[in-house]
Amino acid sequence: MNQFRALSFFILIVVATACSNNSDTATMSQPSHPIAIALHGGAGNIEKMNLSEEDKGRYLFVMDSALQIGYTVLQNGGTSTDAVEKVICALEDCPLFNAGKGAVFSHEGRNEMDAAIMNGSDLECGAVAGVRHVKNPIHGARTVMEQSKHILLYGAGAEEFLKKKNVEMVDTSYFYTTKRWEQLQKALEKNTNGLDHDENSGDNKYGTVGCVALDINGNLCAGTSTGGTVNKRYNRIGDSPLIGAGTYADNNTCAISCTGKGEDFMRLVAAHDISSQMKYKGLSLYDAINNTIQVSLKSIEGRGGCIGLDKAGNVVFSFTTSGMFRAGIDGKGAKTLSIY
Ligand code: ASP
Repeated sequence: MNQFRALSFFILIVVATACSNNSDTATMSQPSHPIAIALHGGAGNIEKMNLSEEDKGRYLFVMDSALQIGYTVLQNGGTSTDAVEKVICALEDCPLFNAGKGAVFSHEGRNEMDAAIMNGSDLECGAVAGVRHVKNPIHGARTVMEQSKHILLYGAGAEEFLKKKNVEMVDTSYFYTTKRWEQLQKALEKNTNGLDHDENSGDNKYGTVGCVALDINGNLCAGTSTGGTVNKRYNRIGDSPLIGAGTYADNNTCAISCTGKGEDFMRLVAAHDISSQMKYKGLSLYDAINNTIQVSLKSIEGRGGCIGLDKAGNVVFSFTTSGMFRAGIDGKGAKTLSIY
């Protein structure tokens, strides 16, 4: 019940933010470069029978609201970095997704979160892994990118650095949700090892979030945030905070955020693989993503997908699972809001 109230409150805040920002757009000037944005809320065994109409409506509503928050930033001339961070913060604050507030539990019953962000203009990037108290891990990742000389900080050290930079910390109880706790109990009963995604359980264990954006100055940015996999052990870290695996951006090619079984994306260095095909072979975003996701990922029986955006504002979604929560507005203003 408390969670339902929290969700309703979240939705109200999202709508209020989106509405107040909308009023600003009336005075905006036309962008000099196409702007575009896309987000995902995880890929996986999202069968129609596993998702009630009510839940489906909630996912679509929150994704649409988050998308609008990011698009409004871009319409007002804001940077792709700001758009990506704001969108991911909104999704992290929503208990529906496996990131921030809705993060899954590890084998030991802890929420250990990973996030990364990357700017395509200068290849600057930042990431955090295994953080347990950072309210918005994507903000932590951006702080590492902008205020440290490092790229990836882990665990207690990451939190020590972020505290010094006044990044908001919360008690671990903030991340508790009944849904995720029960999901861990089910996984423990099945005695899975934290690396196996049980495709037949009917649970949506996924829900990692990601966002890619292109701003008025032609700068691309990509970000990803996750709680990782349910029942993970031994401080397992997935692809999301690894630059080139789950997250990558280069103004000359594309911005990519991946979701799915991280080990598969790490093997392929998937996000960078897509960018490299565009850079060295001159492939389109669509063809490069198709090769990486529909050919290479499938060839290792990999599960998951990605969102991609190129400098012309083309948006591509691709996945090998039955669904991927996704939304986007491309450079021509065409909108996508979909699950299956
Ligand atoms: N890729 C994430 C990880 O392996 C999980 C996900 O996207 O569902 O940590």
